Amino acid sequence: MITVFAMMGVLWGIGAAMGTPKRARWVMMSLLMGVVIFIQIALPDGHPLREATGGDVRLWALLLGFFAVGYGYRAVLRRVKARVDAPKAVPVQTGAFADDELDRYARHIMLREVGGQGQKALKNARVLVVGAGGLGAPVLQYLAAAGVGTIGVIDDDVVENTNLQRQVIHTTDQIGRPKVLSAADAIAALNPHVTLRPYHRKFTADIAAELLSDYDLVLDGTDNFATRFAVNVACAVLGKPLIAGALTQWEGQISLYDPANDAPCFACIFPTAPDPSLVPSCAEAGVIGPLPGVIGAMMALEAVKEITGAGAGLRGKLLIYDALYVQTRLISAKRRSDCAVCAGLHEAAGHSHV
Ligand SMILES: [Zn+2]
Repeated sequence: MITVFAMMGVLWGIGAAMGTPKRARWVMMSLLMGVVIFIQIALPDGHPLREATGGDVRLWALLLGFFAVGYGYRAVLRRVKARVDAPKAVPVQTGAFADDELDRYARHIMLREVGGQGQKALKNARVLVVGAGGLGAPVLQYLAAAGVGTIGVIDDDVVENTNLQRQVIHTTDQIGRPKVLSAADAIAALNPHVTLRPYHRKFTADIAAELLSDYDLVLDGTDNFATRFAVNVACAVLGKPLIAGALTQWEGQISLYDPANDAPCFACIFPTAPDPSLVPSCAEAGVIGPLPGVIGAMMALEAVKEITGAGAGLRGKLLIYDALYVQTRLISAKRRSDCAVCAGLHEAAGHSHV
């Protein structure tokens, strides 16, 4: 028995001297014990080799058992530690493309208005999406698929069964989970080159400035006036362009609000909160399933144009889409000098309005 311990000691020492990882050395020890147990079982009683290795199989089996329990415990400990130590901060997009990205974005890069430069701008862009519901779903999917490098999403809701008829980023098995986490899983599966930052909380004025400082562009797809108003105030004050969409039953609308570039803000066009009875929410009035897909995809498209500089966007224009009778209207709007939110803001930049 002493001989075997001596052998184990020597083996361990050789392993240490050679720099073999501890894990491999423990495997070696276990193997040696396995051989000893085999000797105990296979050789007849009184055999010199069996006598030399202790003469009793139970002792060795017990020792091997201890080894196994110890190893299992360490493995569990390691897994728990890895989960606790997992970095909260996500890697920052550097602008360098991974090998498979050029291939992934090939259909973008061949577009004259996007090209390699535009795709790089998308990768370097930081976009905040407010709401991970009907509009947020296609917005997040298309921004991620298009290669927007850093996407933040803020929403305090959990996935409900009644959401699934239109909020196509969420799946049945995600019911009860925070929408931002459900969305994060979907985005990770869609495009591993995108950094998604989920914020499971309500968008409120007190966190707006700090949150928005991390982003260049904001997309709002929330379903209530109070949040939409708070997002607009924050964007107007900080000079961040805001692409906002809204839905009622069969009708959707979208615009790009940007008082810092002489375009109206949301409050220039909708100065006061409407009577809630006149604008019932989706929960109260219903909404046709594919409509948020249409408006949300348009929001994502306008965002891609805004980031790459392609074409002309929706500054000072409100697009209204009537899905029931297939009609679209484009309404022009100007900044209002008496706007309660943006009047007097960003005047120093040389912009003027009446
Ligand atoms: Zn305004």
